[in-house]
Amino acid sequence: MARYTAAVCRLCRRSGEKLMLKGSRCLTPKCAMDKRSKPPGQQPSRRRKLSDRSLQLREKQKARYTYGILERQFRQFFAQAERQSGITGENLLVLLERRLDNVVYRLGFADSRSQARQLVQHGHIMLNGRKTDIPSCLVKEGDTISWKESSTRTEYYKQLVHTIESKSVLSWLSLDRENLVGQVLSLPTPDDIEAKFEGKSIVEYYSR
Ligand code: SF4
Repeated sequence: MARYTAAVCRLCRRSGEKLMLKGSRCLTPKCAMDKRSKPPGQQPSRRRKLSDRSLQLREKQKARYTYGILERQFRQFFAQAERQSGITGENLLVLLERRLDNVVYRLGFADSRSQARQLVQHGHIMLNGRKTDIPSCLVKEGDTISWKESSTRTEYYKQLVHTIESKSVLSWLSLDRENLVGQVLSLPTPDDIEAKFEGKSIVEYYSR
């Protein structure tokens, strides 16, 4: 599956915002945004005002970078959001949040979404008791997310049992910390998500 493989800190610098793409490293002084927040590449001699189109593009890219999705798949999510009833920007946000790799990250099983994606792709995660290695699979209300039996013997899992104690989960999810089994209590609402980008701007970007 295609994915972005270049240095992810450049994406934060390009967006002008900490997108927290590297897990715990983002909270340390090693964060590239704390050290050098200017966009990558040659700096313009004069700072110019961004057009509406550029601002919309920036919001769209922030959403893509946050969830680690390439343009083609992001457009598919957008098309699906458009087909649903309600506000397209909010639908999009909820669809992105329902991705299995995101839920694995939100449950605290991984430090970042890219790590969560790897856990799913490597077959460590079970959805409703069945091995699922598709990170973009969408969870629904009542779904359970657990670990494959053999994966519970890995060093990663043993460490996670200790570190997960200090992690909190969002209100639309629940977590059995003893057995590391998560459940989707309800679908997320836009308020649950605290997105770093504006769904409305993304809709405007694709509407032209
Ligand atoms: Fe972004 Fe994290 Fe890199 Fe900081 S460390 S620039 S927040 S990905």
